Amino acid sequence: SDHQLEYPVSPEEMDWQKLYPHFFDEATSKMTKEVTIADIGCGFGGLLIDLSPEFPENLILGMEIRVQVTNYVEDRIIALRSNNAATNGYQNISVLRGNAMKFLPNFFRKSQLEKMFFCFPDPHFKQRKHKARIITNTLLSEYAYALKEGGIVYTITDVLDLHQWMVKHLEEHPLFDRLSTEWEKNDKCVQIMRHATEEGKKVERKKGDKYVACFVRLPNPTIM
Ligand code: SAM
Repeated sequence: SDHQLEYPVSPEEMDWQKLYPHFFDEATSKMTKEVTIADIGCGFGGLLIDLSPEFPENLILGMEIRVQVTNYVEDRIIALRSNNAATNGYQNISVLRGNAMKFLPNFFRKSQLEKMFFCFPDPHFKQRKHKARIITNTLLSEYAYALKEGGIVYTITDVLDLHQWMVKHLEEHPLFDRLSTEWEKNDKCVQIMRHATEEGKKVERKKGDKYVACFVRLPNPTIM
């Protein structure tokens, strides 16, 4: 459970060099970039891998709570980095084992993120389990804190009830506005998210439906 996990006290305390050695500057002992894209509950890492070449200037982080799954993604990234060493490929993606529902502010400072992905989150079907869902009012305020103004929350699921739940909570939240289907059509991440993840591929094989909803992080209201 969580108490076996190690968390930095604050984002500044986090050893990012370990995750993205290519973006560490020896001369200044500082990172040259920070994480701006997060894949929450990244599973086997398919999204990270497809996003990597599309966003070479961004550091992309997968968060995953299961140890074995995290280790698998780690190995996958090590192999990709070594097979693409000549071009420094896949240096911009990494994975972290952690509970995204509890310790996000330990990893990300205010307004750090440009994009957050929630791909095929665990549905927690039973009513009494709904509070375990990854999108709730309380957690949305944490996501809004980590996201910058104009940042995007991406959601996709094959479970209609969960889709409606996520849309409802995001629409009710004062710091998020839903983006149009026209916007979705023109966004390359939506296209990638539909097909890149392992869960998405499974749904494709079963010819299931996929429900997408994207939201923009609004400016904080000014207090008159
Ligand atoms: N996004 C991946 C995909 O589309 O293939 C994985 C989807 S899978 C159904 C949900 C994943 O979220 C699982 O790998 C699970 O371990 C992870 N997860 C669930 N709760 C989490 C939490 N609180 N923090 C981080 N990861 C979590």
